[in-house]
Amino acid sequence: MIVDYHVHLRDPSGGIEHTPAAARRFVETAATRGVDEIGFTEHVYYFRETQEIWNVPYQRERCRFDLDRYCDAVLEAKREGLPVKLALEVDYVGERQERLSELLGPYPWDYLLGSVHWIDGEAIDAEPGLWAHASVDEVWRRYVRALAELARSGAVDVLAHPDLAKIFGERPEPGVLAELHSEAAEAIAAAGVAVEISTAGLRKPVGELYPDAALLAECVRRGAVVTLASDAHEPHLVGEDFDRAVAAARSAGCSTVTVFDARQARQEPLG
Ligand SMILES: [Zn+2]
Ligand SMILES: [Zn+2]
Repeated sequence: MIVDYHVHLRDPSGGIEHTPAAARRFVETAATRGVDEIGFTEHVYYFRETQEIWNVPYQRERCRFDLDRYCDAVLEAKREGLPVKLALEVDYVGERQERLSELLGPYPWDYLLGSVHWIDGEAIDAEPGLWAHASVDEVWRRYVRALAELARSGAVDVLAHPDLAKIFGERPEPGVLAELHSEAAEAIAAAGVAVEISTAGLRKPVGELYPDAALLAECVRRGAVVTLASDAHEPHLVGEDFDRAVAAARSAGCSTVTVFDARQARQEPLG
């Protein structure tokens, strides 16, 4: 089994298109790349139903699409028999997390994917963001603390790009990094959330998979399970570089991949 559990339902140039026809285009690429199932994980801040949560201009500007329409598009694709799952990419929002979960409660999610993109309104994955005034060590420490909090919150089932803080190639010195990897892995395993192995990092300045081999190995050693992810915002990116993601999973000792239905996880043989 090969899944791509991080896909943004868009038109061929990356614009918003929450329709069954858009879903079909992603499924077509999946079929050519040997991906058995894809999960749509649109950013949660695109939907006006979640408007009260957002305070960053980037989020507020995008918060205008209809969540029912998005869900209906994916559910219709499911009814047509396409191998798709209904999900969202849910941001870490600190003390507003519980309220965000309440707003998402009524919808029939197969899983929720959790991401830390902003901390206290400042970006991790865009410059200047948090990097403008915090040291590399400080950015990483705050990132791992937020990731652990999100894992423990029960708000999400999978953690996306788990070491996103390396996006620009900036890392603390090896001793500190190892300590932060342990802290993240411990929180992930204890919370029972899955971690995604994402090929998106290969397309970012760092040019590597998320997460680092050492972090992935430590998560797996502590009992965490995995998903595979492209973070495709365009249909042609589904399943991109998955030979590398699968190889990374195997090197870390994974022989299974996580499949979700109605927020229930099960393991299937990887490959
Ligand atoms: Zn993300
Ligand atoms: Zn994403």
